[in-house]
Amino acid sequence: MIVPTQPPPQASSPWDVIVIGAGPAGCAAAITSARAGARTLLIEKGPAKRDKLCGCCLATSGVTQLRSLDTSGKLHAHVAAHALPLHTARVHAHARTGSFALPTSPAPGWAISRSVLDFALAHAARQAGAHVLFDAPAHLAFEGDAQRPALVQLEQHTLSAQIVLIADGLQGSSLPRTPAWHARVAPRSRIGLGAHTSTHALLQAGLPVPRPGEIVMHVADGGYAGLVQLAGGDIDLACALRSDAAGTPRPLQVARILASACAGTHSADLTRRWAALLSTLRLRGSAHLTRARRAGLGRTLVAGDARAYVEPFSGEGMTWALLAGAQAAQLACEALASTHAPWATLAQRWEHATRRTLAARHLRCRALAHLARSPAAVAAACALSHWSPAGLALRNVFAGLWQAPTRGIA
Ligand SMILES: Cc1cc2nc3c(=O)[nH]c(=O)nc-3n(C[C@H](O)[C@H](O)[C@H](O)COP(=O)(O)OP(=O)(O)OC[C@H]3O[C@@H](n4cnc5c(N)ncnc54)[C@H](O)[C@@H]3O)c2cc1C
Repeated sequence: MIVPTQPPPQASSPWDVIVIGAGPAGCAAAITSARAGARTLLIEKGPAKRDKLCGCCLATSGVTQLRSLDTSGKLHAHVAAHALPLHTARVHAHARTGSFALPTSPAPGWAISRSVLDFALAHAARQAGAHVLFDAPAHLAFEGDAQRPALVQLEQHTLSAQIVLIADGLQGSSLPRTPAWHARVAPRSRIGLGAHTSTHALLQAGLPVPRPGEIVMHVADGGYAGLVQLAGGDIDLACALRSDAAGTPRPLQVARILASACAGTHSADLTRRWAALLSTLRLRGSAHLTRARRAGLGRTLVAGDARAYVEPFSGEGMTWALLAGAQAAQLACEALASTHAPWATLAQRWEHATRRTLAARHLRCRALAHLARSPAAVAAACALSHWSPAGLALRNVFAGLWQAPTRGIA
Protein backbone atom coordinates (compact mmCIF):
# COMPACT_ATOMS: atom_id res chain seq x y z
CA MET A 1 0.00 0.00 0.00
CA ILE A 2 1.42 3.42 -0.94
CA VAL A 3 0.82 6.29 1.47
CA PRO A 4 1.44 9.84 0.23
CA THR A 5 4.53 11.17 1.97
CA GLN A 6 5.54 14.57 3.25
CA PRO A 7 8.27 16.20 1.22
CA PRO A 8 11.52 14.62 2.31
CA PRO A 9 13.75 17.35 3.72
CA GLN A 10 16.45 18.50 1.36
CA ALA A 11 19.58 16.71 2.44
CA SER A 12 22.88 18.55 2.62
CA SER A 13 23.76 16.86 -0.67
CA PRO A 14 21.47 16.86 -3.72
CA TRP A 15 19.30 13.88 -4.67
CA ASP A 16 21.02 11.66 -7.22
CA VAL A 17 17.90 11.53 -9.40
CA ILE A 18 14.59 13.36 -9.19
CA VAL A 19 11.88 12.01 -11.49
CA ILE A 20 8.87 14.22 -12.26
CA GLY A 21 5.70 12.29 -13.17
CA ALA A 22 4.66 8.81 -11.95
CA GLY A 23 3.24 7.40 -15.19
CA PRO A 24 4.87 4.43 -16.95
CA ALA A 25 7.95 6.44 -18.01
CA GLY A 26 8.56 8.04 -14.61
CA CYS A 27 7.95 4.85 -12.62
CA ALA A 28 10.17 2.77 -14.94
CA ALA A 29 12.87 5.42 -14.47
CA ALA A 30 12.50 5.50 -10.68
CA ILE A 31 12.52 1.68 -10.40
CA THR A 32 15.64 1.45 -12.57
CA SER A 33 17.62 4.19 -10.84
CA ALA A 34 16.64 3.17 -7.29
CA ARG A 35 17.50 -0.44 -8.05
CA ALA A 36 20.92 0.69 -9.32
CA GLY A 37 21.52 2.31 -5.92
CA ALA A 38 20.84 5.97 -6.82
CA ARG A 39 19.04 8.12 -4.20
CA THR A 40 15.83 8.64 -6.13
CA LEU A 41 12.80 10.86 -5.54
CA LEU A 42 9.67 10.29 -7.67
CA ILE A 43 7.23 13.22 -7.65
CA GLU A 44 3.63 13.01 -8.91
CA LYS A 45 1.21 15.91 -9.05
CA GLY A 46 -1.87 13.68 -8.72
CA PRO A 47 -3.04 11.25 -6.03
CA ALA A 48 -1.71 7.68 -5.77
CA LYS A 49 -4.84 6.27 -7.48
CA ARG A 50 -5.82 8.22 -10.55
CA ASP A 51 -7.39 7.39 -13.88
CA LYS A 52 -6.15 8.58 -17.21
CA LEU A 53 -7.12 9.08 -20.81
CA CYS A 54 -5.74 5.94 -22.48
CA GLY A 55 -6.83 3.00 -24.63
CA CYS A 56 -5.64 0.71 -21.77
CA CYS A 57 -4.06 -1.86 -24.12
CA LEU A 58 -0.55 -2.87 -23.17
CA ALA A 59 1.22 -4.44 -26.15
CA THR A 60 3.05 -7.77 -25.93
CA SER A 61 6.36 -5.89 -25.94
CA GLY A 62 5.08 -3.72 -23.06
CA VAL A 63 4.23 -6.80 -21.00
CA THR A 64 7.77 -8.07 -21.61
CA GLN A 65 9.16 -4.66 -20.62
CA LEU A 66 7.12 -4.68 -17.43
CA ARG A 67 8.43 -8.12 -16.54
CA SER A 68 12.04 -7.00 -17.05
CA LEU A 69 11.59 -4.02 -14.68
CA ASP A 70 11.02 -6.17 -11.65
CA THR A 71 13.06 -9.33 -11.34
CA SER A 72 11.02 -10.53 -8.33
CA GLY A 73 8.04 -11.02 -10.66
CA LYS A 74 5.68 -9.35 -8.13
CA LEU A 75 4.87 -6.35 -10.31
CA HIS A 76 4.09 -8.54 -13.33
CA ALA A 77 2.00 -10.96 -11.25
CA HIS A 78 0.03 -8.16 -9.57
CA VAL A 79 -0.83 -6.41 -12.84
CA ALA A 80 -1.56 -9.73 -14.60
CA ALA A 81 -4.13 -10.55 -11.90
CA HIS A 82 -6.06 -7.38 -12.87
CA ALA A 83 -5.62 -7.63 -16.65
CA LEU A 84 -7.56 -9.36 -19.42
CA PRO A 85 -5.31 -11.01 -22.05
CA LEU A 86 -5.93 -9.65 -25.56
CA HIS A 87 -6.31 -12.00 -28.52
CA THR A 88 -8.16 -10.15 -31.31
CA ALA A 89 -8.46 -6.69 -32.87
CA ARG A 90 -11.72 -6.11 -34.72
CA VAL A 91 -11.68 -3.09 -37.02
CA HIS A 92 -14.80 -1.39 -38.42
CA ALA A 93 -14.70 1.16 -41.25
CA HIS A 94 -17.36 2.14 -43.82
CA ALA A 95 -19.58 -0.71 -42.55
CA ARG A 96 -16.84 -3.27 -43.25
CA THR A 97 -15.30 -5.40 -40.52
CA GLY A 98 -11.90 -7.10 -40.37
CA SER A 99 -10.58 -9.32 -37.61
CA PHE A 100 -6.89 -9.56 -36.84
CA ALA A 101 -5.29 -12.03 -34.46
CA LEU A 102 -3.03 -10.38 -31.89
CA PRO A 103 0.30 -11.96 -31.04
CA THR A 104 0.24 -14.14 -27.97
CA SER A 105 3.92 -15.03 -27.92
CA PRO A 106 6.03 -14.61 -25.81
CA ALA A 107 2.96 -13.34 -23.90
CA PRO A 108 -0.40 -11.84 -24.89
CA GLY A 109 -0.95 -8.10 -24.57
CA TRP A 110 -3.25 -6.91 -21.79
CA ALA A 111 -6.32 -4.77 -21.33
CA ILE A 112 -5.47 -3.07 -18.06
CA SER A 113 -6.97 -0.17 -16.11
CA ARG A 114 -4.55 2.77 -15.92
CA SER A 115 -5.31 3.41 -12.27
CA VAL A 116 -4.28 -0.19 -11.49
CA LEU A 117 -1.18 -0.13 -13.68
CA ASP A 118 0.16 3.27 -12.59
CA PHE A 119 -0.51 2.52 -8.91
CA ALA A 120 1.31 -0.83 -9.17
CA LEU A 121 4.26 0.81 -10.92
CA ALA A 122 4.58 3.53 -8.26
CA HIS A 123 4.38 0.84 -5.58
CA ALA A 124 7.19 -1.08 -7.33
CA ALA A 125 9.27 2.13 -7.40
CA ARG A 126 8.89 2.44 -3.65
CA GLN A 127 9.73 -1.25 -3.18
CA ALA A 128 12.89 -0.66 -5.22
CA GLY A 129 13.95 2.04 -2.75
CA ALA A 130 12.69 5.28 -4.33
CA HIS A 131 10.97 7.96 -2.23
CA VAL A 132 7.54 8.58 -3.75
CA LEU A 133 5.66 11.84 -3.30
CA PHE A 134 2.03 12.30 -4.45
CA ASP A 135 -0.20 15.37 -4.73
CA ALA A 136 2.92 17.44 -5.41
CA PRO A 137 3.02 19.45 -8.65
CA ALA A 138 6.68 20.09 -9.47
CA HIS A 139 8.42 22.51 -11.80
CA LEU A 140 11.88 22.48 -13.22
CA ALA A 141 13.54 25.65 -11.91
CA PHE A 142 17.03 25.10 -13.36
CA GLU A 143 18.26 22.44 -15.82
CA GLY A 144 21.68 22.09 -14.18
CA ASP A 145 25.01 22.53 -15.91
CA ALA A 146 28.60 21.31 -15.72
CA GLN A 147 29.15 22.88 -12.31
CA ARG A 148 25.73 23.08 -10.67
CA PRO A 149 23.01 20.51 -9.96
CA ALA A 150 19.50 20.92 -11.33
CA LEU A 151 16.73 22.51 -9.23
CA VAL A 152 13.13 21.36 -8.85
CA GLN A 153 10.50 23.61 -7.32
CA LEU A 154 7.68 22.15 -5.20
CA GLU A 155 5.03 24.33 -3.61
CA GLN A 156 7.12 25.12 -0.53
CA HIS A 157 10.50 23.54 -1.22
CA THR A 158 13.31 23.79 -3.69
CA LEU A 159 15.12 20.49 -4.18
CA SER A 160 18.38 19.92 -6.00
CA ALA A 161 19.42 16.84 -7.95
CA GLN A 162 22.42 15.61 -9.88
CA ILE A 163 20.00 14.59 -12.63
CA VAL A 164 16.33 15.38 -13.26
CA LEU A 165 14.20 13.07 -15.41
CA ILE A 166 11.10 14.73 -16.80
CA ALA A 167 8.31 12.18 -17.39
CA ASP A 168 5.26 14.37 -16.92
CA GLY A 169 3.34 13.38 -20.06
CA LEU A 170 2.26 15.03 -23.28
CA GLN A 171 2.03 18.63 -22.07
CA GLY A 172 5.40 18.74 -20.32
CA SER A 173 3.73 20.92 -17.71
CA SER A 174 6.69 20.89 -15.31
CA LEU A 175 9.03 22.42 -17.91
CA PRO A 176 9.71 26.15 -18.11
CA ARG A 177 7.65 27.93 -20.80
CA THR A 178 10.77 28.92 -22.71
CA PRO A 179 11.59 28.43 -26.42
CA ALA A 180 14.18 25.79 -25.46
CA TRP A 181 11.45 23.47 -24.19
CA HIS A 182 8.83 24.27 -26.79
CA ALA A 183 7.12 21.16 -28.30
CA ARG A 184 6.73 20.93 -32.09
CA VAL A 185 3.19 19.78 -32.85
CA ALA A 186 2.69 17.91 -36.14
CA PRO A 187 0.38 19.60 -38.65
CA ARG A 188 -3.13 18.04 -38.67
CA SER A 189 -2.37 16.39 -35.35
CA ARG A 190 -5.43 14.86 -33.71
CA ILE A 191 -6.63 15.38 -30.18
CA GLY A 192 -7.40 12.61 -27.68
CA LEU A 193 -10.72 12.00 -25.95
CA GLY A 194 -11.87 9.15 -23.75
CA ALA A 195 -14.26 7.91 -21.09
CA HIS A 196 -15.11 4.92 -18.96
CA THR A 197 -18.43 3.14 -18.98
CA SER A 198 -19.62 -0.40 -18.24
CA THR A 199 -20.95 -3.44 -20.08
CA HIS A 200 -24.19 -2.90 -18.16
CA ALA A 201 -24.58 0.67 -19.48
CA LEU A 202 -23.86 -0.45 -23.06
CA LEU A 203 -26.42 -3.27 -22.83
CA GLN A 204 -29.03 -0.94 -21.36
CA ALA A 205 -28.47 1.51 -24.21
CA GLY A 206 -28.80 -1.31 -26.76
CA LEU A 207 -25.17 -0.86 -27.87
CA PRO A 208 -22.68 -3.59 -28.81
CA VAL A 209 -20.35 -4.74 -26.02
CA PRO A 210 -16.71 -5.57 -26.83
CA ARG A 211 -15.96 -9.17 -25.85
CA PRO A 212 -13.25 -9.81 -23.23
CA GLY A 213 -9.89 -10.04 -24.99
CA GLU A 214 -11.01 -8.04 -28.02
CA ILE A 215 -10.04 -4.50 -29.09
CA VAL A 216 -12.78 -2.96 -31.23
CA MET A 217 -11.55 -0.09 -33.43
CA HIS A 218 -13.88 2.23 -35.35
CA VAL A 219 -12.36 4.31 -38.15
CA ALA A 220 -14.32 7.14 -39.76
CA ASP A 221 -13.82 10.57 -41.32
CA GLY A 222 -13.86 12.36 -37.96
CA GLY A 223 -11.15 10.14 -36.44
CA TYR A 224 -11.08 6.75 -34.76
CA ALA A 225 -12.35 5.27 -31.51
CA GLY A 226 -11.35 2.10 -29.68
CA LEU A 227 -13.34 0.13 -27.13
CA VAL A 228 -11.99 -2.55 -24.85
CA GLN A 229 -13.39 -4.47 -21.89
CA LEU A 230 -11.39 -4.26 -18.66
CA ALA A 231 -11.46 -6.71 -15.76
CA GLY A 232 -14.67 -6.36 -13.74
CA GLY A 233 -16.80 -5.41 -16.75
CA ASP A 234 -15.65 -1.79 -17.12
CA ILE A 235 -15.36 -0.51 -20.68
CA ASP A 236 -12.63 1.88 -21.80
CA LEU A 237 -13.32 4.19 -24.73
CA ALA A 238 -10.41 6.11 -26.27
CA CYS A 239 -10.50 8.24 -29.43
CA ALA A 240 -8.27 10.35 -31.64
CA LEU A 241 -10.38 13.08 -33.20
CA ARG A 242 -9.90 15.65 -35.92
CA SER A 243 -9.34 18.91 -34.12
CA ASP A 244 -10.99 21.06 -36.80
CA ALA A 245 -14.59 19.94 -36.17
CA ALA A 246 -15.41 23.18 -34.36
CA GLY A 247 -19.06 23.55 -33.42
CA THR A 248 -19.84 19.83 -33.18
CA PRO A 249 -20.23 18.75 -29.55
CA ARG A 250 -17.62 16.12 -28.66
CA PRO A 251 -20.15 13.40 -27.66
CA LEU A 252 -21.81 13.74 -31.06
CA GLN A 253 -18.45 13.72 -32.87
CA VAL A 254 -17.52 10.43 -31.15
CA ALA A 255 -21.01 8.96 -31.61
CA ARG A 256 -20.79 9.58 -35.37
CA ILE A 257 -17.45 7.78 -35.57
CA LEU A 258 -18.70 4.77 -33.58
CA ALA A 259 -21.92 4.50 -35.54
CA SER A 260 -20.80 5.27 -39.10
CA ALA A 261 -17.80 2.91 -38.91
CA CYS A 262 -20.18 0.03 -38.10
CA ALA A 263 -23.29 0.96 -40.02
CA GLY A 264 -22.12 3.31 -42.79
CA THR A 265 -24.87 5.63 -43.99
CA HIS A 266 -27.61 3.73 -42.11
CA SER A 267 -26.39 4.86 -38.76
CA ALA A 268 -28.84 7.53 -37.53
CA ASP A 269 -30.38 5.40 -34.79
CA LEU A 270 -27.01 4.06 -33.64
CA THR A 271 -25.59 7.61 -33.59
CA ARG A 272 -28.50 8.76 -31.43
CA ARG A 273 -28.00 5.91 -28.92
CA TRP A 274 -24.25 6.48 -28.68
CA ALA A 275 -24.70 10.25 -28.32
CA ALA A 276 -27.27 9.75 -25.54
CA LEU A 277 -24.89 7.48 -23.60
CA LEU A 278 -21.81 9.63 -24.21
CA SER A 279 -23.55 12.77 -23.01
CA THR A 280 -23.90 11.10 -19.57
CA LEU A 281 -20.19 10.19 -19.29
CA ARG A 282 -17.27 12.22 -18.02
CA LEU A 283 -15.13 12.79 -21.10
CA ARG A 284 -11.40 13.40 -20.70
CA GLY A 285 -9.57 15.33 -23.42
CA SER A 286 -5.96 15.84 -24.40
CA ALA A 287 -3.88 18.38 -26.27
CA HIS A 288 -2.75 17.72 -29.87
CA LEU A 289 -1.23 14.26 -29.82
CA THR A 290 1.61 14.02 -32.34
CA ARG A 291 4.48 16.14 -31.10
CA ALA A 292 8.12 16.17 -30.05
CA ARG A 293 10.47 18.32 -28.02
CA ARG A 294 14.20 18.22 -27.26
CA ALA A 295 15.43 15.20 -25.31
CA GLY A 296 17.40 17.10 -22.72
CA LEU A 297 19.37 20.11 -21.59
CA GLY A 298 22.14 20.31 -19.01
CA ARG A 299 21.43 17.65 -16.39
CA THR A 300 17.78 17.28 -17.35
CA LEU A 301 16.52 14.41 -19.54
CA VAL A 302 13.02 14.03 -20.94
CA ALA A 303 11.32 10.64 -21.43
CA GLY A 304 7.95 9.19 -22.46
CA ASP A 305 5.18 11.33 -23.95
CA ALA A 306 6.93 14.46 -22.68
CA ARG A 307 9.75 13.75 -25.15
CA ALA A 308 7.68 12.63 -28.15
CA TYR A 309 4.37 11.00 -28.96
CA VAL A 310 2.63 9.76 -32.08
CA GLU A 311 -1.16 9.40 -32.07
CA PRO A 312 -2.29 6.14 -30.54
CA PHE A 313 -3.57 3.95 -33.41
CA SER A 314 -0.99 1.23 -32.76
CA GLY A 315 -1.49 1.24 -28.96
CA GLU A 316 2.20 1.41 -28.07
CA GLY A 317 2.54 4.60 -25.99
CA MET A 318 2.87 2.84 -22.64
CA THR A 319 5.45 0.45 -24.09
CA TRP A 320 7.52 3.33 -25.49
CA ALA A 321 7.23 5.11 -22.12
CA LEU A 322 8.32 2.07 -20.05
CA LEU A 323 11.26 1.52 -22.36
CA ALA A 324 12.35 5.16 -22.47
CA GLY A 325 12.02 5.65 -18.71
CA ALA A 326 14.22 2.65 -17.98
CA GLN A 327 16.78 3.73 -20.59
CA ALA A 328 16.94 7.32 -19.33
CA ALA A 329 17.57 6.08 -15.79
CA GLN A 330 20.22 3.68 -17.06
CA LEU A 331 22.01 6.58 -18.75
CA ALA A 332 21.61 8.74 -15.63
CA CYS A 333 23.17 6.04 -13.45
CA GLU A 334 26.08 5.64 -15.87
CA ALA A 335 26.65 9.40 -15.67
CA LEU A 336 26.50 9.35 -11.85
CA ALA A 337 29.12 6.59 -11.78
CA SER A 338 31.38 8.30 -14.31
CA THR A 339 34.60 9.97 -13.23
CA HIS A 340 34.90 11.98 -16.48
CA ALA A 341 32.54 14.93 -15.89
CA PRO A 342 29.72 13.57 -18.08
CA TRP A 343 27.43 16.62 -17.87
CA ALA A 344 28.50 18.38 -21.06
CA THR A 345 27.40 15.47 -23.26
CA LEU A 346 24.61 13.89 -21.21
CA ALA A 347 21.66 15.51 -23.00
CA GLN A 348 23.23 14.91 -26.40
CA ARG A 349 23.76 11.22 -25.63
CA TRP A 350 20.13 10.92 -24.59
CA GLU A 351 19.02 12.66 -27.79
CA HIS A 352 20.91 10.03 -29.84
CA ALA A 353 19.68 7.13 -27.70
CA THR A 354 16.01 8.12 -27.97
CA ARG A 355 16.29 8.53 -31.73
CA ARG A 356 17.95 5.12 -32.08
CA THR A 357 15.37 3.36 -29.98
CA LEU A 358 12.13 5.03 -30.93
CA ALA A 359 12.47 6.77 -34.32
CA ALA A 360 11.67 3.67 -36.41
CA ARG A 361 8.73 2.73 -34.18
CA HIS A 362 7.32 6.25 -34.33
CA LEU A 363 7.70 6.26 -38.10
CA ARG A 364 5.73 3.02 -38.49
CA CYS A 365 3.05 4.33 -36.18
CA ARG A 366 2.86 7.57 -38.19
CA ALA A 367 2.46 5.57 -41.39
CA LEU A 368 -0.40 3.71 -39.82
CA ALA A 369 -2.03 6.86 -38.48
CA HIS A 370 -1.82 8.14 -42.06
CA LEU A 371 -3.67 5.04 -43.29
CA ALA A 372 -6.29 5.58 -40.58
CA ARG A 373 -7.06 9.00 -42.12
CA SER A 374 -8.70 7.16 -45.00
CA PRO A 375 -11.63 5.06 -43.77
CA ALA A 376 -12.01 3.78 -47.35
CA ALA A 377 -8.47 2.35 -47.28
CA VAL A 378 -9.10 0.80 -43.87
CA ALA A 379 -12.39 -0.67 -45.13
CA ALA A 380 -10.53 -2.18 -48.10
CA ALA A 381 -7.94 -3.57 -45.70
CA CYS A 382 -10.74 -5.09 -43.62
CA ALA A 383 -12.46 -6.62 -46.64
CA LEU A 384 -9.23 -8.09 -47.97
CA SER A 385 -7.52 -8.44 -44.65
CA HIS A 386 -5.60 -11.58 -45.59
CA TRP A 387 -3.77 -10.51 -48.68
CA SER A 388 -4.04 -6.79 -49.59
CA PRO A 389 -1.05 -4.54 -48.80
CA ALA A 390 -3.27 -2.38 -46.58
CA GLY A 391 -4.58 -5.48 -44.83
CA LEU A 392 -1.02 -6.66 -44.40
CA ALA A 393 -0.07 -3.28 -42.93
CA LEU A 394 -2.86 -3.55 -40.36
CA ARG A 395 -1.92 -7.12 -39.53
CA ASN A 396 1.66 -5.98 -39.02
CA VAL A 397 0.58 -3.38 -36.50
CA PHE A 398 -1.10 -5.86 -34.30
CA ALA A 399 1.61 -8.47 -34.77
CA GLY A 400 5.01 -6.97 -35.64
CA LEU A 401 4.79 -3.68 -33.75
CA TRP A 402 3.30 -5.17 -30.65
CA GLN A 403 6.01 -7.80 -30.60
CA ALA A 404 8.94 -5.54 -31.48
CA PRO A 405 11.71 -6.55 -29.11
CA THR A 406 12.80 -4.01 -26.56
CA ARG A 407 16.46 -3.27 -26.12
CA GLY A 408 18.76 -1.23 -23.93
CA ILE A 409 20.91 1.74 -24.84
CA ALA A 410 23.38 0.67 -27.49
C1 LIG B 1 -6.65 8.53 -26.73
C2 LIG B 1 -5.42 7.80 -26.29
C3 LIG B 1 -5.38 6.41 -26.33
C4 LIG B 1 -4.21 5.73 -25.96
N1 LIG B 1 -4.21 4.36 -25.99
C5 LIG B 1 -3.11 3.68 -25.64
C6 LIG B 1 -3.09 2.26 -25.62
O1 LIG B 1 -4.11 1.59 -25.85
N2 LIG B 1 -1.93 1.63 -25.31
C7 LIG B 1 -0.79 2.33 -25.01
O2 LIG B 1 0.25 1.72 -24.76
N3 LIG B 1 -0.79 3.69 -24.99
C8 LIG B 1 -1.91 4.37 -25.28
N4 LIG B 1 -1.92 5.73 -25.22
C9 LIG B 1 -0.69 6.44 -24.87
C10 LIG B 1 -0.34 6.33 -23.39
O3 LIG B 1 -1.43 6.72 -22.61
C11 LIG B 1 0.87 7.23 -23.12
O4 LIG B 1 1.81 7.10 -24.15
C12 LIG B 1 1.53 6.89 -21.79
O5 LIG B 1 0.66 7.07 -20.71
C13 LIG B 1 2.77 7.75 -21.61
O6 LIG B 1 3.34 7.54 -20.36
P1 LIG B 1 4.17 8.71 -19.65
O7 LIG B 1 4.66 8.13 -18.38
O8 LIG B 1 5.12 9.31 -20.61
O9 LIG B 1 3.10 9.86 -19.36
P2 LIG B 1 1.78 9.82 -18.48
O10 LIG B 1 1.20 8.46 -18.39
O11 LIG B 1 0.93 10.91 -19.00
O12 LIG B 1 2.29 10.20 -17.00
C14 LIG B 1 2.73 11.47 -16.69
C15 LIG B 1 2.50 11.70 -15.20
O13 LIG B 1 3.09 12.94 -14.83
C16 LIG B 1 2.23 13.60 -13.92
N5 LIG B 1 2.53 15.04 -13.98
C17 LIG B 1 2.20 15.91 -14.96
N6 LIG B 1 2.67 17.14 -14.67
C18 LIG B 1 3.29 17.05 -13.48
C19 LIG B 1 3.97 17.97 -12.64
N7 LIG B 1 4.08 19.26 -12.99
N8 LIG B 1 4.51 17.53 -11.48
C20 LIG B 1 4.40 16.21 -11.12
N9 LIG B 1 3.74 15.29 -11.87
C21 LIG B 1 3.22 15.69 -13.04
C22 LIG B 1 0.83 13.25 -14.42
O14 LIG B 1 -0.15 13.40 -13.40
C23 LIG B 1 1.02 11.80 -14.84
O15 LIG B 1 0.72 10.87 -13.82
C24 LIG B 1 -3.08 6.45 -25.56
C25 LIG B 1 -3.11 7.84 -25.50
C26 LIG B 1 -4.28 8.52 -25.85
C27 LIG B 1 -4.30 10.02 -25.76
